[in-house]
Amino acid sequence: MLAVSGERSISIQVDFETLGIKPKGELFERASKVLDSLPAWNNRSFRLALFDDLPKNAAYELLVSYVRCQEVIFKHYGIHTERWQARRLVDTFINACLRCGLRRAIEFRDHIEDAANTLDLHSVALAIIREYETYCSQKAGVDKHVEAQRRLIDSKREEFLIALEKRDGLFCNECESLGELRIDHVEPLSLGGFSVLHKLQILCSFCNGRKCNRTMYYLSGRKDRPQGITEPIDASNQRYETQSHRH
Ligand SMILES: [Zn+2]
Repeated sequence: MLAVSGERSISIQVDFETLGIKPKGELFERASKVLDSLPAWNNRSFRLALFDDLPKNAAYELLVSYVRCQEVIFKHYGIHTERWQARRLVDTFINACLRCGLRRAIEFRDHIEDAANTLDLHSVALAIIREYETYCSQKAGVDKHVEAQRRLIDSKREEFLIALEKRDGLFCNECESLGELRIDHVEPLSLGGFSVLHKLQILCSFCNGRKCNRTMYYLSGRKDRPQGITEPIDASNQRYETQSHRH
């Protein structure tokens, strides 16, 4: 048995699924409500007031971009959204907000904070900035985890390969190809996976590329699955298992 540090399951205080962003959640509702209560953009006096007050303008733009980006990017978000898709959507959403409004609002953060107790527009903008800060710290936690687990597998690659060959054989666990084999994490590191033997499988580069950032355990679908592997697969994986065997 490999003596690999990190073999014990460690609980990570990171919300890998949504990285601190709640799609169409309470903050989205609040931002939409505040925007609805404000005069329309084509209202001349409102527009002039926004031009005169840069922090207010920044807060307003942030709310508009936050609501619009949520509507577009999380349009199809729901209970059937896979974790890897949720991760990607959240990152896309943050990048979109940074391009249109968030960066500027952060510049005026102090002013927005000062007015947050009296104005809904500012208090929601502040809450969005805080949500972004939570996202950044969560993401830093995820990146740190990924880096540590990558270092671990790099330093023990030979040992893992020998153990995997002994356990499963040295061929792709999906298509049984013998070429361009690599060690794959059943659960991607970016979703909280670990570099531990029972969470690894051998795939060829093609199957590995097709798996992408999904959590898929190919061995569990094989009839000749080796004894001693008790890794359960959850319902969300089952769908991919079925799909992958159709090819
Ligand atoms: Zn393959």
